Amino acid sequence: MTDALTWKSLSSNQIRHKQGELLLSLLKHSFSNVPYYKKIIAPEITSSNPKDIYSLIKTIPLLTKNIIRDNSEDLLAKNICNKDVTINMSGGSTGEPVEFYQDKYYKSWNIYANKLVFNEMLGKEMGEREINLWGSERDIYKGSISLQEKIQNFLYNRIFLNSFRLSEQLMEEYAAIINRYKPKSIWTYVESIYTLSNYIKEKGIEIYSPDIIISTAGTLYPEIRLSVEEVFGCKVYNQYGSREVGPVACQCKEQSQLHIFPWSHYIEILDSKGETVDIGQEGNIVITCLTNFSMPLIRYSIGDKAIRGTGTCKCGRNTADIAQVQGRNIEQLLSLSGELIHGQYFIKQLVHKPWIKKFQIIQEAEDRVLNKIVTSKTPPKNDLNEIVEREKLLLGEEMNVTFEFVDEIESSDSGKYMYIISKISHDL
Ligand SMILES: [Zn+2]
Repeated sequence: MTDALTWKSLSSNQIRHKQGELLLSLLKHSFSNVPYYKKIIAPEITSSNPKDIYSLIKTIPLLTKNIIRDNSEDLLAKNICNKDVTINMSGGSTGEPVEFYQDKYYKSWNIYANKLVFNEMLGKEMGEREINLWGSERDIYKGSISLQEKIQNFLYNRIFLNSFRLSEQLMEEYAAIINRYKPKSIWTYVESIYTLSNYIKEKGIEIYSPDIIISTAGTLYPEIRLSVEEVFGCKVYNQYGSREVGPVACQCKEQSQLHIFPWSHYIEILDSKGETVDIGQEGNIVITCLTNFSMPLIRYSIGDKAIRGTGTCKCGRNTADIAQVQGRNIEQLLSLSGELIHGQYFIKQLVHKPWIKKFQIIQEAEDRVLNKIVTSKTPPKNDLNEIVEREKLLLGEEMNVTFEFVDEIESSDSGKYMYIISKISHDL
């Protein structure tokens, strides 16, 4: 794990060389042991060198969730012992969940080492108190956690607060726990901390201020960041990752671009033709996981978009490859004229309305958009008209925009909260 920390002083060229070696060994292993890759990786790979790997890898077709679902057997390495492998599922925010197999080596690097490095970047040492405001049915909701997890929690000096369902009573309890426990850091889903901070603000509760809040899973929109920072009196940092590939990138104290973990992930940001976008341009995130040999994910198109970073950062680390994660592809709506409209536009129309407690915008059909809203009082007619007008402005005058006022909006099965849901397909 200490090896991960040594990467921080390397130059961009040194990182590229060292990462090239890791990529090469993953590709060689996949060619020799994984039936799916045996068919699609060029045999020259076995005699290539780390310098050429970055152009060679571009000949491998992108891996999608559908391909994984159709080739689950053929994606498993034949030389890996079954007992070292565990099954994980991708978040259930879109369609059918997909199964992923991950080994112990992957877990040590992706979960433990990356988290260690992330904490080091933000000045938190191992053993300093941490609260995880987390909500996942699979991990927590079903009841007791394993002995291994209990030991880990003890060693990490952390406690878990389930945010799968945040009732007023639970939020009051959680605020009291934060005040009592005085954590150095809070790891949290964006939506969970946003809901909790709104509650704390509304009730005028005096809350303990941790040193750092690390937000993950959803998209940390600027308005949400500012609002949480104001309530907790500390900085909120963005972390990006997923079940399939673990933690992928995080912000350092500069609170600007996201640093990737070059020892565990090779990241490409590609345009629709598969070419790498220029610095500052948006593209699709494609990830090669360098540490999971049991079921290698090579050029996995994860379904998120990002703006390509400059690579360098004021903090001295040359790993700032992502300027900003743009959120899930699903967080876009399709206009009647065929344009994909970024979800942030719609969020901005609703997020500041004082009578809206919670909302979700769902594109149910090509010509129908539903605003699902939990209200705190009767919505003013003018506001409703304004929302319809602004949504139609980008989606098209003929778009059927409606409202549904509900008592609760549930998170998806993985605990992620979706502000925007598109039920119509618009593939990459
Ligand atoms: Zn930095």
